[in-house]
Order: sequence, then C-alpha cells, then structure tokens
Amino acid sequence: MTKAQEYVATVKEAIQRRDPEQTEFQEAVFAVLDSLIPVLDKHPEYIKANLLERMVEPERVIEFRVPWQDDAGNYQVNRGYRVQFNSAIGPYKGGLRFHPSVNLSTVKFLGFEQIFKNSLTGLPIGGGKGGSDFDPKGKSDSEVMRFCQSFMTELARHIGPDLDVPAGDIGVGGREVGYLFGAYKRLRGFENGVLTGKGLTFGGSAARVEATGYGLLYYTQSMLDAHNDSLKGKKIKISGSGNVALYALQKANELGAKVITVSDSDGFIYDPDGIDYSAVKEIKEIERGRIKEYAQKVSTAHYMEGSVWNYDIDYDVALPCATQNEIDQKQAELMVKDHVKYICEGANMPSMPEAIKTYNENNIYYGPAKAANAGGVAVSALEMSQNSERLSWSFDQVNNKLETIMHYIFSKSETAAKEYGVEGNYQAGANIAGFEKVATAMMAQGL
Ligand code: GLU
Repeated sequence: MTKAQEYVATVKEAIQRRDPEQTEFQEAVFAVLDSLIPVLDKHPEYIKANLLERMVEPERVIEFRVPWQDDAGNYQVNRGYRVQFNSAIGPYKGGLRFHPSVNLSTVKFLGFEQIFKNSLTGLPIGGGKGGSDFDPKGKSDSEVMRFCQSFMTELARHIGPDLDVPAGDIGVGGREVGYLFGAYKRLRGFENGVLTGKGLTFGGSAARVEATGYGLLYYTQSMLDAHNDSLKGKKIKISGSGNVALYALQKANELGAKVITVSDSDGFIYDPDGIDYSAVKEIKEIERGRIKEYAQKVSTAHYMEGSVWNYDIDYDVALPCATQNEIDQKQAELMVKDHVKYICEGANMPSMPEAIKTYNENNIYYGPAKAANAGGVAVSALEMSQNSERLSWSFDQVNNKLETIMHYIFSKSETAAKEYGVEGNYQAGANIAGFEKVATAMMAQGL
C-alpha cells in the first residue's frame, strides 16, 4: 500500500467508527476518497494537514423539531435538518429535500456531494444541504404552507445571503420556496439572496426551473462531442418525471434526440415515437397527476408498472433523473446488453457502486451527478449574483451562461482525468477537479 492508500483507509475507518449506520453517506464519501488517491500521491502536504478527515466532517449540523397543524386540527411533528458542510470557497449552498426517506445520512451524503458539485461550477459557493422527513404528497396547499412556516421559524436564524443559501430539491419546488421566503421575510426582512429558486416576481432567476434538466443535456452534449458523436437521432431513456426529467425531456427533443421513456414511483411509459413534452408537463405540473395518465392521452404510448431500468430494449443514452440508488448492478448489466453508450445522471447518486463498476468495465461513458446535474445550482449562484446587483438577466443571458458552465465542467473533469492517468473516467475527473479548488482554499486558510 502507498502512503496515500494507507491514509484513505484510515479516513474510511474514522467515518465507519463515528457513523456506522450512515450508509448513503459512506457510499458517497468512499467513492470520492478512492478517486483522490493519485492526487494525494502527488500532494503529500494534504496528508500531513489531515485534509480529508477535516473535509468529511461537516462544519456544522443543525437538527430541529418542526411542529405543525394539519387540516383536521391534529398536531404533527417532523424533523428538520441543515448540514453546513464546507464554506472554504463561499457561503454554504444547496437544496432542501422534503421526503419521508430524509434522515441525517441522506442529508450528509447530499451535502458532501454538493461541496464538489458547487466547486466544479467555477462559482464561489460552498456546500450544504437540508430537508425534512415531511411528505408533501397528498397534503393540501395550506398544510404545506404551515409546514414551511414552521420549518423556517427555526431555520431562519441559521441562514443568510452571505452565510447559507438554501434552494429546492425533491419535494421542494417553487410553491415551497415561496412559502419559505414569505416566512423568512416576516422574521428577518426582505433579504432577496437568502433562498434561490424563487418566483420571477420576487427575485427569482429566468431559466432556474429549466436549469438542471437543460444543464444535463448540455453536459451530455459535451461528452458526445468528445467522442465525435452527436445527440441527433439518439434514443434516450429518462427516469423520473419531476422538474429535472421534464426539462431534460424538452431539451433532448430540441437537440434532435428521441426520448422513449419517463417514469414515476409506480411505473413508466414507453413510447417508440418519442415522448411529448407538453403532455407530460400538463399531467405533472398542471394536473399534479401520475404518469400513467400519459398513456390515456397518447395512443402510441404504453404504461408498465415497475422500474424503467428493468425494461429490455436497445437504446443509446441513459439519463436517470428520479432518485438515489435507482440503478443496481443487474440493471446496469441490462444496459450493457441493450448497447447503451452513455449514462449521465440528472438525479443525485442514482447509480449504486456496483452499477458504476459495470459501466466502467464495459466502456459505457459515465457522467456522475456532481458534474452532470450541476446546472441547477449553477443557475442558483447566478440568481445570487442578480440579487446582489438588484438586476435580473434575460432568459437567453442565463441560458447561455448555463451552457458555457456545463461545457466548462465537462472539460475540467476531462482534463483532470487525463492529468492523473485515468483518461475517460469522468467520475474520477469530476472528483479530482472539484476537490482541487476546495483543497487549495482550505490549505490557504489554515486550520
Ligand atoms: N438541489 C439541487 C442540487 O442538488 C440544487 C441546489 C441549489 O440550487 O442550491 O444541486
């Protein structure tokens, strides 16, 4: 074992000792640590400064009670979290997730990933994440509003435009950000830059809603360009039908590809003629319905229950946009059989470690979430800039900047991978490139 390998093993042991039950967090951290070995070989000063153990420990973890009243008058209690992970390069930045699966391990894994994702954008934002085990599904607007108000009553004292800037994630969209902002304003005044993903009438940025999905396609396009390939005529499987999936679908169609699936937690639709963006938008955003309704509207589409990744059909590009750990090894093996050439992640950590191993062993080019889905947080950072200068930029201005940022992220990752002898491994490249900026800043700022 080299010194770097020994050091990484010690850091892994420390994490397992401190938080043995935090499996998602361990999974995310271990993948990053493994790719950093060549960097540590070159920079023994990082080992001396125990930089990795410092990096895997959040600067601050806030956990709080969120009491609220439902429409029937019952008193309910949920648990809220905010993990302020790393502020070496800017204020903590990252979304809030409202979903029953949220616990400290999920929030820490997402917060850890966010550090490197945010660094990769080239913009001055640190890493953080938060959320609650509250389930917005089936709740009325007033219940969601009362929950958001209670959540913000505690969170407000911990955030600020130069301190920590939350945004949306799964279960937190424009409606929730609006209620959260309203509650913050009552407590601390109109501070525009305290949240991103706001409505366009009170400081939100053009193209923020579209940003993660559009950004995913710009990133995918860069990857295909690097292999002298193009999206024109490519068959794409998308999972999910939330905000990321929806705008990925729209942009993929615009770039000449054909999206053949989208899904929700019950099942998926398959349409050999290509999925129509406006029909999905209507079902999900206007009717707030389930994806099976698509098959009732469009005669060429079929609805099937279960995971879209179990469905056997030849296609070219996989864009998982649903949730973490949605693709296991078996499903990755099916992709190999189905001649998939590229996979780029719109969701955070949708591929399990064994699935990633399968991609790498079978020459499927793999764009990890922290690079491929960084478009959302990148436009959040642009929203912060607009709030600071009290101006708003046009849709085209923001969209053009987003495209430039996504190409920059791909080329940074590609170059880093080449430099450290893992050419074509865009996961290692993203980890290394994201790490280098944070590491340099932490070293410069001392212990
Ligand atoms: N939740 C998004 C992410 O995973 C966006 C975060 C933000 O805009 O701060 O990156």
